[in-house]
Amino acid sequence: MEYNRCGKSGLLMPQISLGLWHNFGSVDDFENAENIAKEAFDKGITHFDLANNYGPIPGSAEENFGKIVQRNFKGFLRDELLITTKAGFKMWEGPYGEWGSRKYLISSLNQSLKRMQLDYVDVFYSHRPDPNTPIEETMAALDFAVRSGKALYAGISNYNAEESAIAIDVLQKLGTPCVVHQTKYSMFERTPEQGLLDVIGQKEIGCVAFSPLAQGLLTNKYLKGIPENSRAANPNGYLQSSDVTEEVIQKITALNSLAKERSQSLAQMAIAWLLKEERITSVLVGASSINQLNDNLESLKRLDFSSKELQKIEAILK
Ligand code: NDP
Repeated sequence: MEYNRCGKSGLLMPQISLGLWHNFGSVDDFENAENIAKEAFDKGITHFDLANNYGPIPGSAEENFGKIVQRNFKGFLRDELLITTKAGFKMWEGPYGEWGSRKYLISSLNQSLKRMQLDYVDVFYSHRPDPNTPIEETMAALDFAVRSGKALYAGISNYNAEESAIAIDVLQKLGTPCVVHQTKYSMFERTPEQGLLDVIGQKEIGCVAFSPLAQGLLTNKYLKGIPENSRAANPNGYLQSSDVTEEVIQKITALNSLAKERSQSLAQMAIAWLLKEERITSVLVGASSINQLNDNLESLKRLDFSSKELQKIEAILK
């Protein structure tokens, strides 16, 4: 594993990180989740990404991850882990359970630390911008989280280019620089190319790309329809069967052929395609099995693309 610098900060992130949005909740098999996390760490994936609401049930991914840390990464190994969490989406009922107030962010962070049985997280993110709370308040809450030692670094997620530029400047003035932006980015989701990546480059912060496989669409899994054990077939999965359209199947079939020509799986090519972008610090994958994780890690063996291959990809995606 190689580790990329997060913008101009001191923080290094593995090229591939593991996300716990799915597969780590109370509805999932704990032993499988624990084995995936252990395999990830053994392969150099130091970075585990969570949020208050990951599950289902909300909070259970953090609880399970806390157990995994207690059972496998106690003591000095905690210092080898980069554990990130977030608050922003709805976590509990009532006026204080979502968005971007100081009240919500700090209570949520305290709850996350309890669930994970940790003294601190490495990065605390504002999970989404809040149109009704001054950005200064949300950023001051992140600054407080860092100054109080509950988080080591501050990050933002799902902020557009304009909102990001403001948030990054506010944090800079507060003296707690924003180290990382987490954004949805894949061959199927190109929005970051419309300004956000430029802001990230100009402000010299890190960028973590989430859902790099478009939740599994950019793999060989859906080439022939929807398999039973897939996220699209899972009632707890965020991907809907209606997302697996004819158009998607046509595109992934063509991409899959190109990946084969490169002696890669489609998942590997999709990850490599993101890592060729120098503003991407880490690609944040999910995995429901050790085999998937290892398939994804193989992408690191072939990261280069010829201009012809890139043109072919653009033609397929058009
Ligand atoms: P991916 O796009 O990597 O999708 C992961 C899913 O794809 C797996 O659970 C599995 O689903 C399938 N898959 C993975 N590898 C393979 C493979 N090699 N072959 C076949 N199928 C494969 O990422 P996610 O959507 O899971 O997101 C990753 C992380 O990003 C999350 O865990 C979370 O940490 C973060 N995230 C952040 C958000 C934010 O707002 N900041 C929002 C969403 C995610 P299956 O069940 O079908 O096997």
